[in-house]
Amino acid sequence: MDLLKQNIENVLSRIETAARRSGRASSEIKLIAVSKNVEPERINLAYEYGLKDFGENRVQELLKKFELVNPQINFHMIGHLQTNKVKYLINRVKSIHSVDSIKLAKEIDKRFGEKNIKINCLIQIHTAKEETKFGLSPEELENFLIEAQHLKNINFIGLMTIGTLTDDEKEIRRCFSTLRKLREDYSHFKLENIDLRELSMGMTSDFEIAIEEGSTIVRIGTAIFGERKY
Ligand SMILES: *Cc1c(COP(=O)(O)O)cnc(C)c1O
Repeated sequence: MDLLKQNIENVLSRIETAARRSGRASSEIKLIAVSKNVEPERINLAYEYGLKDFGENRVQELLKKFELVNPQINFHMIGHLQTNKVKYLINRVKSIHSVDSIKLAKEIDKRFGEKNIKINCLIQIHTAKEETKFGLSPEELENFLIEAQHLKNINFIGLMTIGTLTDDEKEIRRCFSTLRKLREDYSHFKLENIDLRELSMGMTSDFEIAIEEGSTIVRIGTAIFGERKY
């Protein structure tokens, strides 16, 4: 059997096992195959093997691939997004996971609104200890939501985070449970355009922990496509 097919089956079965271990149904967990640095031919092959949703983190790369892959494929923007590139995502992505400032949210609202399109977005939260530029701090979420309620062309469907890159399982778990607790803390904040159901968390090295902590969307690249070549 083809290695790609084998990898996909392996990942699906690991998702199933982690879900069962935590008393959850695997149907609650959506897999986004992260296809950055993967050629269009292999993305199409993965689609043939049953995957429907693919994540990209660079707009330029997404645009190029969009023309070359099966039109049935759903793309999701999962990486940092500059405001001047938002317009290119219209009609090309099903969701944006990396909304990390109100400025970016306003630009998404404006651009998609001009075309009368509603777009699903997740709010990226910085839960890890290490310094990174991207993601709101948990303390910033409240003010973000207060402003975001006016952005009617966006459906805010959940929260996203990237766990700490470490071997310390406790620390990784802390990142994911922080995101789950934030969703609970803001569950009262339910409006026409805000309903934080989804938790996008878990990558190749930590998706089983993320599922145990309540992840509803895992973003997995390496375990499916192999090590990336840059
Ligand atoms: C690359 C990437 C992933 C997938 O990482 P793997 O370790 O290859 O599974 C997930 N989320 C984001 C935001 C990424 O940039």
